[in-house]
Amino acid sequence: MSEVIRVTIWNEYRHEQSKPHVRELYPKGMHQAIAEGLTGNFDIRTATLEEQEHGLSEEVLANTDVLIWWGHTAHKEVSDEIVDRVAARVLQGMGFIALHSSHYSKVFKKLMGTSCSLLFRDVGEKERLWVTAPGHPIAEGVAPFFELEREEMYGEFFDIPSPDEVVFTSWFEGGNVFRSGCCFNRGQGKIFYFRPGHELYPTYRDANVLLVISNAVRWAAPVKREPLRFGKSIPALEPVREK
Ligand code: ZN
Repeated sequence: MSEVIRVTIWNEYRHEQSKPHVRELYPKGMHQAIAEGLTGNFDIRTATLEEQEHGLSEEVLANTDVLIWWGHTAHKEVSDEIVDRVAARVLQGMGFIALHSSHYSKVFKKLMGTSCSLLFRDVGEKERLWVTAPGHPIAEGVAPFFELEREEMYGEFFDIPSPDEVVFTSWFEGGNVFRSGCCFNRGQGKIFYFRPGHELYPTYRDANVLLVISNAVRWAAPVKREPLRFGKSIPALEPVREK
């Protein structure tokens, strides 16, 4: 049996409290729906914006292998101190999964270094996600494509650095396409951006979406490795003289 992966699901948790329709879809919040839907040897906790230190104390982060993030309307309310803390943990090896509108979260933008802007349109159109990296661990068990009947559209151009791998590419009813599942390495950390998850639709109850996020948790979990060595910490292995 594989080792337990410690997962923290962070949600700004605003739309569920302010919009009745969203509350109906996710009575306990999207973070709880995701927590209930993930499958794997996971030890899951949740954290929200309103909590002390947004629920992301040094201790919580030190005990998190993979952090999942959902934010939209309150990106600016996330304190820079916590953003720096999360980004530093990613560079040390914590996995980070940014969902949907978290493309504009301070943490994701800091880790990408670009505007992370994109096209969007919300008319509840069909989204078809194609696997564009078959054999990738995040696509394990996923059919060549799957569909979400109603979603918000995100379209190219998506202003991110070229991903290390694009596991999913979306087509939308209105004709747009989008790099929907993007892998990045930053320092010792792995980052996965996954597009679906507009708050008005039951996306986090979709079996394919939950499978992809579960796979992404396993992929992003830290691997055991030698501590990195820099500077003069590895002396010359053969005799060498200054010339
Ligand atoms: Zn949205």
